[in-house]
Amino acid sequence: MSVTSGPKTARRWFVNETPKGDLTDTTLALRDEPLRDLEAGEFLVRSIYLSLDATNRVWLSTFDHYMPPLLPGDPMRGFLVGEVIESRNEAFPTGSLAVGIHTWSDYFVTDGTDFSVYPGVDGLPLSDFFGVMTVAAPTAYHGLIEMAKPQPGETVVVTAAAGAVGALVGQMAKIAGCRVVGVAGGTDKCAYLVNELGFDAAVDYKSEPILEGLERACPDGIDVHFENVGGEALDAGLTLASQGARVIICGLISSYNNDVQDDGVKMIRNMIFRRIRMEGFVILDYLDQYPRYYEAILPWIAEGKLKYRLHVVDGIENALDALKLLYTGGNNGKLMVRIGDEAVRA
Ligand code: NDP
Repeated sequence: MSVTSGPKTARRWFVNETPKGDLTDTTLALRDEPLRDLEAGEFLVRSIYLSLDATNRVWLSTFDHYMPPLLPGDPMRGFLVGEVIESRNEAFPTGSLAVGIHTWSDYFVTDGTDFSVYPGVDGLPLSDFFGVMTVAAPTAYHGLIEMAKPQPGETVVVTAAAGAVGALVGQMAKIAGCRVVGVAGGTDKCAYLVNELGFDAAVDYKSEPILEGLERACPDGIDVHFENVGGEALDAGLTLASQGARVIICGLISSYNNDVQDDGVKMIRNMIFRRIRMEGFVILDYLDQYPRYYEAILPWIAEGKLKYRLHVVDGIENALDALKLLYTGGNNGKLMVRIGDEAVRA
């Protein structure tokens, strides 16, 4: 069966060169590609939103990590949601919305591997469901609630606190009855944490050494340190950790642009003296737990206990420039690209 009523070509980002350090204008290249005909079991998707994630830079690295590395010539990979516009797959009928991992493309053909049908949640727009529930909220829930098990009265510190994951971690810790301190870059982000999200304190690592800021904000030490950044931030967390502290390694974004992995962490000895448990995770290992996580998270969103910001950039052609924002702190909230419009064809 041919792609009859849809487009004959797709715009798709490819890896042009393996980055050495920061992403540049030549790391990826946007090209037109012919769209092939559908085979049995396949369907054609019109992309609506592309999620931009800090880990996209990790995928472009050649060291051993948790996915096959993306090499020059490979299409760029990402999380997408889109409308099925032609289908030879009964599980994804025409007109349904598919969420999953594919290429940075405005149209693509897939057999549905790594895709699910968008479930639809009353009162939650597609943009919000996709931006918050696909990765950020389950990551925050798994790392904080399931792994750290925060107790009322404990002090929780989260880094990259104004970002997609960090903002949710801090608010979930407030729901758990904790005292919450966020670390973020700049006065606006810090004011947002305290004034709009209800954090107890915020440390602006761009205006003072992070250890000094955390010492002041956490006079009784840190019981849970939720790490999204690494380096100095993680070292400060280990330095100020209380007895029996849990240190959750969710992300190390400050080192994603480095070829040499040196996270600058020195205070390992406190893991012994303070009986610290430090543990990392990849949320993709817990997809089977999503229904359970959604049961907890969706009511919090409905009740206004979990707030979030979406940072939406328009146009697939702007995806590479938009991705760079994550590594400079230029994003305010969950970063995503609107590739096509939300309205589903009748
Ligand atoms: P964010 O929305 O938090 O955006 C990234 C933020 O990181 C920036 O806005 C910036 O905030 C901060 N940042 C970037 N570079 C640096 C740096 N050199 N030093 C200090 N801060 C920096 O992104 P996400 O919420 O999507 O991701 C947050 C973290 O969570 C990432 O490390 C990511 O890899 C990790 N993650 C892990 C998952 C897992 O399964 N383990 C799943 C999803 C995300 P600021 O302006 O405050 O500096």
